[in-house]
Amino acid sequence: MSNDGQYDLIVIGAGLAGSEVAWAAAQAGRRVRLYEMRPVRHTPAHRTDMCGELVCSNSFRSNAPDNAVGMLKEEMRRLGSLIMQVAEETKIPAGKGLAIDRERFAEGITARLQSHPLITLQREEVTSLRALAEQYQRPLVVASGPLTAEALAADIRSLTHAEDLYFYDSMAPLLATASLDPAQMFRASRYGVGEDYLNAPMSRAEYQKFVMAVAQAEKVPPRHFEDPKYFEGCLPIEVMAERGIETLRHGPMKPFGLKDPRTGREPYAVVQLRFDNRAETIVNMVGFQTRMTWPEQQRILRTITGLATAEFLRMGAMHRNTYLNAPKLLDPTFALRSAPWPVQFAGQITGVEGYVESAAIGLYVGLLQVGRLRSAPPLATALGALTEHVTNGNHLKFEPMNANWGLTPPLPAHVPYQTRKAAYRDRARQEMIHWLKEEGFAG
Ligand SMILES: Cc1cc2nc3c(=O)[nH]c(=O)nc-3n(C[C@H](O)[C@H](O)[C@H](O)COP(=O)(O)OP(=O)(O)OC[C@H]3O[C@@H](n4cnc5c(N)ncnc54)[C@H](O)[C@@H]3O)c2cc1C
Repeated sequence: MSNDGQYDLIVIGAGLAGSEVAWAAAQAGRRVRLYEMRPVRHTPAHRTDMCGELVCSNSFRSNAPDNAVGMLKEEMRRLGSLIMQVAEETKIPAGKGLAIDRERFAEGITARLQSHPLITLQREEVTSLRALAEQYQRPLVVASGPLTAEALAADIRSLTHAEDLYFYDSMAPLLATASLDPAQMFRASRYGVGEDYLNAPMSRAEYQKFVMAVAQAEKVPPRHFEDPKYFEGCLPIEVMAERGIETLRHGPMKPFGLKDPRTGREPYAVVQLRFDNRAETIVNMVGFQTRMTWPEQQRILRTITGLATAEFLRMGAMHRNTYLNAPKLLDPTFALRSAPWPVQFAGQITGVEGYVESAAIGLYVGLLQVGRLRSAPPLATALGALTEHVTNGNHLKFEPMNANWGLTPPLPAHVPYQTRKAAYRDRARQEMIHWLKEEGFAG
């Protein structure tokens, strides 16, 4: 037998999440074998063999702590994040955002991992979790990301259920309920049956103008490995808009059975907003999956009645993504409930969305793995809200999620809208500091 027994932990994938897991474990004295398939096998989006490579934009989004993703970064720094350390060393000017020099960043991550005496970087594709578990007899962490190689994806599917591993995202935008104008909408269910939605009515002229704007909007072109054939039941709104002026009105914007109580009539068209959480702080724009660019989404969707000042918690998107039905499959420590041996998941494959969120879950799983945390982070923190959403959310359909304040418990109603972000920030910071103290962290 080889010296396989010399490792304490096996990590699969040296992206944003796997790098954090390996680093957190090694810093706590664990011997880590970190599997990364590049350059032996490439993903369709990565360009190099470096660890922590960013596949698209070089932006880590807002750095301002009154924004949930900014607060998530602050929390990660307090927890000793490798990704945040190297991002700080390689950042480039970007106003309130955090943008980085992508090459220096990936070089920095790779150098830290390769030179750590307790991390062994193994350039090899993993195809079977069982084989690894039997070979090493040690816990596994799977952080193989949105572009998990096919053989491993099939292996994960065999450990779960086919319908609980998704391969494609079609995400409709999520909005903060408090940023909408309820006076311009009405609350009703179709034909008075089922749950209530918020309904934004449109006149014929408004509808036609809207459809033209969507059809003409700038779109994100599909990547070369993304098949732009869509399921008929899940078409982007711009594809429907291009099919004909009435198509949307017979699809997600259909008004039938929705009487506006203020007029007693069905409007010409309707945009339906479904509450996305129990606290009703987030709404989902039903059927509004889209490839419009982010600035175009904001410009065009804000012309909808009642949405003029809408705050976008997550933008609409359609892209390839491999992720688990985590609330069903994973326990609060991100371990796969049904696995015959210890295996945790981390990063985007758990159903979070974005570089920072993926790294945050990697950091959290790494700290859990080494027994560094005894309790879950408070729900009012950005990290606590995200981990709760993934492992314990009550979802009609689980969809990938960015960090956002809508995931945290509602603030008291008397906090005015203009000061709510600061209130979220202060509450999160206070609770994080208290929790860290209880968990024995320095600061
Ligand atoms: C096309 C595309 C564009 C994106 N653009 C953005 C963006 O602009 N901004 C943003 O915030 N997020 C973006 N994302 C999401 C982003 O990729 C993720 O949030 C982030 O990279 C996920 O981190 P991760 O560690 O989970 O996965 P990754 O960073 O992808 O790391 C996974 C690693 O696992 C390796 N791997 C996969 N399978 C195996 C295997 N079988 N054996 C061994 N190694 C394996 C991969 O080579 C990779 O290095 C994009 C995603 C895609 C697919």
